[in-house]
Amino acid sequence: MTKVLYPGSFDPITYGHMDIIKQASNMHDEVIVAVMKNPLKNNGFFSLEERLKLIEEIYKELSNIKVVIGSGAAVDVALYYNCKALVRGLRGVTDFDSELQLAAINKNISNGQINTVCLFADSAYQYLSSSAVREIFRLDKDISNYVHPIVYEGMQKKLKRG
Ligand code: ADP
Repeated sequence: MTKVLYPGSFDPITYGHMDIIKQASNMHDEVIVAVMKNPLKNNGFFSLEERLKLIEEIYKELSNIKVVIGSGAAVDVALYYNCKALVRGLRGVTDFDSELQLAAINKNISNGQINTVCLFADSAYQYLSSSAVREIFRLDKDISNYVHPIVYEGMQKKLKRG
């Protein structure tokens, strides 16, 4: 049984992330999506718990996709859940550069135990990011091409709550 960990901020999860999850779940028995606490990204739109709930809701019928909240090093979260590798999505050369560096560091700090599997973003979502979605939403423009209806609804509810 192969299990992989897909760590990220997912604030919010987009169709780009979902495409990577689909690709990974076609190749592995189980994909654990880890909503990671990121001290460098403080002013989030959703709390970690809200992100977790939205992703859980989207995948509630798929038993091979699990969602957790992780803190600290992604490799430690991967080892904790017995994952063989980290999954990351590549949109372009900028992602490639940073992911290459991250993969090397992660292999090193896990004493060679955790490798990184990079999957290519679908061409339709090559330019999609969570920050772009948040920005388009703040401009009161349609984000339905970028996020699942559950996320869209969650963002509207959150905005109303203030
Ligand atoms: P973002 O970079 O949008 O803030 P995350 O920190 O949640 O997203 O990223 C988690 C992983 O998902 C990273 O490997 C990132 O490169 C990847 N990713 C983000 N957006 C996309 C997309 N549109 N298509 C494919 N992979 C993506």
